[in-house]
Amino acid sequence: MSDETEKLKEAAEEAKKNLGSPLITDQKTSSSLWFDQRELNVRYMISVERIKKFYDGLLEGKVFATRCTKCGVVYFPPQSYCSSCRSDSMEWLELAGTGELITYTVINVKPQSFSHYPDYAVGIAKMPQGVNVLAWIDSDIKSLKVGMKVKLEVKKREPENYLTYWIKPE
Ligand SMILES: [Zn+2]
Repeated sequence: MSDETEKLKEAAEEAKKNLGSPLITDQKTSSSLWFDQRELNVRYMISVERIKKFYDGLLEGKVFATRCTKCGVVYFPPQSYCSSCRSDSMEWLELAGTGELITYTVINVKPQSFSHYPDYAVGIAKMPQGVNVLAWIDSDIKSLKVGMKVKLEVKKREPENYLTYWIKPE
């Protein structure tokens, strides 16, 4: 938790004692603010039935996109229908080979739910199959350069302990 957040929390605790409500004063405008902070617990349950092959691919160390067989648009993350021409005739396409890192950023101010991670880099790789992939980068963050050659790798993310895809410099 940041110092600032800690201070706001203390002020709110103090106000609850004195005023009966967690009212704090906005430092910029001097107006009253109602303050509360609680941990957010988010549960994800998303149907992946129609893109199950993507997860089967991760088990084999492969990253799959889908391609519309009617108009050729490639989707990543994979989609089971084409939002461009509305076809549901899709084929699987492995994102193999060498791509290019087109941009990246190092995250040192993390969202609270990622606060247990050391600083990490997120980037976008342009893959030869004609699709851009946004992913965490598995590399020393000081060695990163825009334009460098990269590939996709499949590796477990810790401490969550599940397989996911990463951008990895060649
Ligand atoms: Zn299409």
